[in-house]
Amino acid sequence: MTDILQDFQSIIQKGRRILFFTGAGVSTLSGIPDFRSANGLYNQHHYSLSPEEMLSHEFFEQHPAEFFDFYKETFDVRQYQPNIVHTTISALEKAGKCLGVITQNIDGLHTKAGSQNVIEYHGTVYKNSCPEHGALFSADDVFDCEGIPRCPHCGKIIRPEVTLYGETPYRHVDATHLVEDCDVFVVLGTSLKVYPAANFVRYLDLDTQKLVIVNREETQYDRLATLCIHEDLQTVFESL
Ligand SMILES: [Zn+2]
Repeated sequence: MTDILQDFQSIIQKGRRILFFTGAGVSTLSGIPDFRSANGLYNQHHYSLSPEEMLSHEFFEQHPAEFFDFYKETFDVRQYQPNIVHTTISALEKAGKCLGVITQNIDGLHTKAGSQNVIEYHGTVYKNSCPEHGALFSADDVFDCEGIPRCPHCGKIIRPEVTLYGETPYRHVDATHLVEDCDVFVVLGTSLKVYPAANFVRYLDLDTQKLVIVNREETQYDRLATLCIHEDLQTVFESL
């Protein structure tokens, strides 16, 4: 094992209030494509819009039919299963070493892996509701319906509880409290470019809290990190 992986192992072993922050790289390890590189046929043939534009609050409001075509094609993640990162985080939580996980991913895989304290910062495809009277709907209700999913009681368009571009993430205050409370903050599979999540690193007191970054590419916060690993997540987690 290389020195850097031994350092990682040592930090995780010594950690008592570890907090994980996970991004797209953790989902791609389960085989889920990163939607930002989504190059769906639908989009190529019908629009010249970026995925970010098609997943914006404005597009949802103005073009719901097209929004849901793209949403269903891009985010139907029901078939995917947790990987070694999800299961390790869940096991560390059960062992009482981990405060929980903040995730930017909307695929629900941390919950599927058994993690209890999961802040789904950008929401999850598994929660959907009627904006009129709050009735709840499953992912099946949304992904398996024809066209626009509508509330059977009032006919309003069902809203997936995921953060669209131009909207505020969920549970930001809870997330910042966890960040302030952890002894090790472990960033996994995100380049820390999306705000306000990227700011979590700034809430750390680096004199008393450790920052670990595991990401393929460099990030703007690498220079602040106690440990920074540019390896794939599978290799890193197999070393634990
Ligand atoms: Zn309704």
